[in-house]
Amino acid sequence: MRGLMQDYPLTIDSIFRHVEQHYGDGTIVTNNPGGVTRATYAEWAQRTRKLGGVLDTLGISADGRVGTFGWNSQRHLELYFAAPCSGRVLHTLNVRLFPEQLTYIANHAEDEVVFVDRTVLPLLWPLIDTMKTVKQVVVMDDGGGNEIPDDDRILDYETLLADAEPVEFAVSDELRAASMCYTSGTTGNPKGVVYSHRSTVLHAMAAIAPNAFGFSVRDVAMPVVPMFHANAWGIAQAAPAAGASLVMPGALMQPEALAKLIVDEGVTFTAGVPTIWQGVLPHLAGQPHKLRDIGCGGSAVPKALSEAYREQVGIPILQAWGMTETSPVASSGILPRRFEDADDATKADRRARAGVPLFGVEARIVDADTLEPQAWDDTATGELQVRGPWCAQDYYNPDAGVELTTPDGWMKTGDVAAMDEFGSIRIADRTKDLIKSGGEWISSVDLENAIMSHPAVKEAAVVGIPHPKWDERPLACVVLREGESATEQDILDHLKPLVAKWWMPEAVEFIDEVPKTSVGKFSKKDLRSRFAEYALKS
Ligand code: ADP
Repeated sequence: MRGLMQDYPLTIDSIFRHVEQHYGDGTIVTNNPGGVTRATYAEWAQRTRKLGGVLDTLGISADGRVGTFGWNSQRHLELYFAAPCSGRVLHTLNVRLFPEQLTYIANHAEDEVVFVDRTVLPLLWPLIDTMKTVKQVVVMDDGGGNEIPDDDRILDYETLLADAEPVEFAVSDELRAASMCYTSGTTGNPKGVVYSHRSTVLHAMAAIAPNAFGFSVRDVAMPVVPMFHANAWGIAQAAPAAGASLVMPGALMQPEALAKLIVDEGVTFTAGVPTIWQGVLPHLAGQPHKLRDIGCGGSAVPKALSEAYREQVGIPILQAWGMTETSPVASSGILPRRFEDADDATKADRRARAGVPLFGVEARIVDADTLEPQAWDDTATGELQVRGPWCAQDYYNPDAGVELTTPDGWMKTGDVAAMDEFGSIRIADRTKDLIKSGGEWISSVDLENAIMSHPAVKEAAVVGIPHPKWDERPLACVVLREGESATEQDILDHLKPLVAKWWMPEAVEFIDEVPKTSVGKFSKKDLRSRFAEYALKS
């Protein structure tokens, strides 16, 4: 017997129509270098329909790739919908990538056009002749003030929009590609992940739900995570779909500007990687705000950081786990009711976990080679593997040289994790960041957490350095808070009661700043190469 319900496609134009019909008075605020702009969702919807007309006029093919190169803004949100709702494929290019990587991914994706913020035009324009399929560059003038080259391929966003006719959006095939995003490629070439309409809609529904970001018409959401980093974690679709208003930081990503926006615009939910919140803390501490949750993930969320927010801002950080390959949100660390009466230390420990998979995603930990399941006892570790309708099956690069899916249909994450009896995930490390010492593994994440609980420490990154006897030993790279001091011995004394003896770092190096990747994570690759010769020197 078959069900008798409608076969209604899960396509992004259904989100668009819902926002247009029901939330026309919601607002999108963008903090541009040229000043703050404000629009209602009604205005945004009208402009988005016209942008669909622009894509037709530009002659973008039926499933042509529409590149974007810009910060979070109202215009970027127009592209987020106009491209997929007109059947095209949105391709967000990361403005912080190296030129060769940008050339590689624009060519690999076969972008036909790139929409670029004026602020970052000087990063893209010199590469234009290397991007073989890009015929036009549409400049979005955010008041960035950079010179616009005199070239026939350059067009102006607002001029095109003013001349365009609004179009109807109707996508019928939910499995059609909607957008693509290349992982930042910490190893090898960036790998392309291609989202479908269906995966995007289901991910948005999951992100809206209370166990994830919990969006409603009462919210003002500010994605600090860029729209070029794993879909702005779904916020750009989920917030409008729930009728939440949006605040976009534009190119003004400085911590002070972000804190001011949170306060001035009454932001209730925001999200970004740990380094962002590290920087924002002193500017937000003690300020009046309406925040209910600060989402954080993308790399290990230090317990000390979450606790500092609880003490100084009044709310702890809400941890989520995911990957570009999982759209990206796959689990969240919201505290279950059974911890309501727990002491502060227990609650802080629980919040330091990646948490329980969102409904729709299944997770397991297995031996990476044999796929043997590991016990859910919070001690045994294994590779975290996931499956679900917003997890990737394959990369777009047939030459990526990576098998994403196991023979039994689970997505490999490259993360090592433990799970407790309820399947709450505790990320131990990325496989490639684990430190192999004397045949045993040391979690760099656990060591960093322990070091960052020292009051003088601002940031700590631990990497394995080659060691003649033990294979690798941990090196702690520590950034001290301004005006604070601590010696190597102070740090080691602090660690002694917290970690096993053989986990103790071989040395502590004080550095000015931890190098960051293009999406603002600690770049352990850079640290490893900086200290590659370390053992020999000491
Ligand atoms: P990249 O590999 O370029 O950093 P992603 O942004 O897709 O690209 O990163 C996904 C990875 O980020 C995960 O595999 C995991 O290692 C890390 N990550 C994400 N969320 C968390 C978290 N809450 N705790 C620890 N690590 C996390």
